[in-house]
Amino acid sequence: MAHEVTLIPGDGTGPELAQATRRVLEATGVEFEWDIQQAGIDAFEETGNPFPDETLASLRRTKVGIKGPTTTPVGSGFRSVNVLLRKELDLYACIRPCKAYTGVRTRFPETDIVIVRENTEDLYAGIEFEQGTPENAELREALARLGATVREDAGISIKPISIFGTERIVEAAFAYAESKGRAKVTAVHKANIMKFTDGLFLSVAREVAERHPDIEFNDRIVDNLCNQVITRPEEYDVLVLPNLYGDIVSDLCAGMIGGLGIAGGANIGTHAAVFEATHGSAPKYKGRNMVNPTALMLSGVYLLEHLGEADAATRMERAIAAVIARGEKVTFDLKPNRDDPTAVGTSEFADAVIEEMNA
Ligand code: NAD
Repeated sequence: MAHEVTLIPGDGTGPELAQATRRVLEATGVEFEWDIQQAGIDAFEETGNPFPDETLASLRRTKVGIKGPTTTPVGSGFRSVNVLLRKELDLYACIRPCKAYTGVRTRFPETDIVIVRENTEDLYAGIEFEQGTPENAELREALARLGATVREDAGISIKPISIFGTERIVEAAFAYAESKGRAKVTAVHKANIMKFTDGLFLSVAREVAERHPDIEFNDRIVDNLCNQVITRPEEYDVLVLPNLYGDIVSDLCAGMIGGLGIAGGANIGTHAAVFEATHGSAPKYKGRNMVNPTALMLSGVYLLEHLGEADAATRMERAIAAVIARGEKVTFDLKPNRDDPTAVGTSEFADAVIEEMNA
């Protein structure tokens, strides 16, 4: 039976990446019934809404989606579609495997780290009070009554971290480690400074770890983690992090495995799952058939795993890895020199993966 999946092409380079990924997913032989829905800046310009109701309704119905990147205007405009999506569908776990494939130029070839990022809380919860507004003044007054002084000209963002939110993300990290035969989970935090948020994250993580004695557990302060992860990547396995650190460390690890073009991911919730690359819409490359579709394709591999299509997932990942290892029909970012005239386009990379799968 065909799997019904919501396909959101996104904007910028999203549509070309989504098209390449869709072709490879279909070439695995797994049958899909795509429900194509819009989100992002193009949807905003057409309808005034970057995240149309139909898109959300489709995801609620199919419970599974694959999404190209969407642009978020800086400072003003509209709120991030990704943040809204995660909130509306309670996609609380963002899972980003970062493995250095053979053939990719990297100083960290032994990297094989999985990032499990909390997706709904922390400074990303969207609880913000703009400088100069009455709400900001009211909050500062309340804080003053509690003995905390905040400058009048300050903007304020609130960082909530709960027992509930932490418990389920750390459980998700252990569940991932157990299902994939991983040995260790490291909780990442800044509990020495933010005792009541990151401190809570750490203490809940320790409690959850006690329920999983077969998996090793340790913790690291985020700045130290950044240092150690690039000096001794082989010591790290599964990392579980609050939202903001998870966002930053994801890009760090993506850089370690050869760049954003090859870092895929999954957003998993209790009622739905949405698969998407770590990178953004790379708008300067829009419509140029240049960018690397590997990140979205690997997100497609995780989609197949989620749908129970393990065999197809393995074949697709092996084919992607083989094309990268050969290094001929790869996009500019995977060539030793970014101006290499032998680099292929997004769609030709997809052709090479399909050819490899059928070989
Ligand atoms: P970006 O990830 O879009 O691009 C940064 C740079 O990384 C690019 O200029 C390019 O050099 C490289 N790059 C990214 N993807 C690549 C690929 N597939 N192949 C080759 N090179 C690639 O980051 P940005 O420029 O900071 O963000 C652009 C927009 O995307 C912003 O509006 C941002 O908010 C949004 N964004 C969306 C998502 C998402 O939809 N999940 C994630 C991150 C950023």
